Amino acid sequence: MKADVPRAGDHASRPPSRRSVLLGGGVLLGGALLPAGDTARRRERWDVVVVGAGVTGLSAARNLVDHGLSVVVLEAKDRIGGQLHTDHDFTSVPVELGAGLIHGREAYTWELVKEARAETVRVRHGSGSHRPLETPEPPNVIEDAAAYLRRMGVPEERWPPVSLDNEPLHRWSALWMSGSGLFDWWSAPRENFRVVGGYDRILPPLVYDLDVRLSHAVRRVRWSGGGVDVFAENPRGTLEVRADRCVVALPIGVLKEGDVVFDPALPGAYRDAVESLDRTDALKLVYEFDRAVFPEDEDVLGWDEDSGFVFWCLSRKDPEVVVAWSAGENARRLLDLGIEERFAAGIAALSESLGEEVPEPVARTTHDWAADEFSRGAYLYVPPGAHDAPPTLAAPLEGALYFAGEPTTGENTVEGAYASGYDSTDRLLTER
Ligand SMILES: Cc1cc2nc3c(=O)[nH]c(=O)nc-3n(C[C@H](O)[C@H](O)[C@H](O)COP(=O)(O)OP(=O)(O)OC[C@H]3O[C@@H](n4cnc5c(N)ncnc54)[C@H](O)[C@@H]3O)c2cc1C
Repeated sequence: MKADVPRAGDHASRPPSRRSVLLGGGVLLGGALLPAGDTARRRERWDVVVVGAGVTGLSAARNLVDHGLSVVVLEAKDRIGGQLHTDHDFTSVPVELGAGLIHGREAYTWELVKEARAETVRVRHGSGSHRPLETPEPPNVIEDAAAYLRRMGVPEERWPPVSLDNEPLHRWSALWMSGSGLFDWWSAPRENFRVVGGYDRILPPLVYDLDVRLSHAVRRVRWSGGGVDVFAENPRGTLEVRADRCVVALPIGVLKEGDVVFDPALPGAYRDAVESLDRTDALKLVYEFDRAVFPEDEDVLGWDEDSGFVFWCLSRKDPEVVVAWSAGENARRLLDLGIEERFAAGIAALSESLGEEVPEPVARTTHDWAADEFSRGAYLYVPPGAHDAPPTLAAPLEGALYFAGEPTTGENTVEGAYASGYDSTDRLLTER
């Protein structure tokens, strides 16, 4: 399958849990999400300001608040979750416009699933198992992953299916993929799971009692060893937040575009690191049909094929909901088309994959992550030469600025975001 496919490093060396240690099983309370302009809990000075209420920012804030710090989270959108974006309005079935899957049984995020008392369902996936790759020599520093596998004599039919879910291998750093176990991770068979009722069911255990200011787009972060002043625009004006420290939990696309100005500018090594990393494009086209079109014995179609699409069935009941997924070059080709042509291309490819014409959908939806000004692309990948960018960005700046999330880990999963929120703030807590 594609879109919601495996994409992360080997987490075997990590401790088994974060939240269970910290919270002893949290109590779910109502959220404390404040809309723009409601500054009832505003303080002159906070211990920490977190920029971005995706899974990274929320996990970071959770950890800090659980350790007694005063924390405010500034989020540009009118919702939390970032690239974890469940649409509850499209049909009676919740639809994931961003992240859809939990990858494997070892993911940290299972503890959130448990805490939320959410159900999951395993995705039946038709692809066979893959043998680990044999790569006797290490990659060169700027070698791309395709060139490396060719040099190692790995035949193309054995290359891991990265391009189905991300950029083609020639756009990846071989050294990063090799060093972070990604060749093996991609080559290995893996179980994937959906959260019944929506992936966003894992958010309440993170967000309860946090002070999250929605519709607050941060425009400037003035920083020094003495603290930070963060300026955010909201529909009523500008909010200035003073804090001792700032956790920057923004996607790489937003950092690259310079949408948030750092004052003074980040040191050269940090700017180079941001410049060297990149984000892929990913597109989900979601269709509702008034009758069944998908084979009963499969949840996924098109994996291991070169059609540019993978399809999976979200719901077999009335309505039947099918998602067409595309990433990397294929997604960009589709994003260059108008919206009608995009949807038509998905339907045509689904008909071809099924070997029969599918009926006109009764409803359709999608989200353009590239055009989303608070995402500016989908998840991150590590291009040739960028292997040392994540550790560079993970190093705190003058004890004031702490970057977190994909740019600091190179991981592009919900699980990776969850772990990064905790890891980055553990560091902050020990350095206090
Ligand atoms: C289409 C798609 C499919 C995916 N599929 C999967 C999957 O199946 N499984 C999986 O594990 N992962 C998947 N991912 C990846 C996963 O969603 C991300 O890795 C993860 O959610 C990143 O979390 P984050 O908090 O680091 O960043 P984000 O989720 O990007 O959060 C960043 C937050 O910062 C906010 N922000 C941006 N600019 C500003 C500003 N100026 N001021 C204030 N706030 C701002 C954004 O609005 C956002 O809320 C998918 C992603 C996409 C897009």
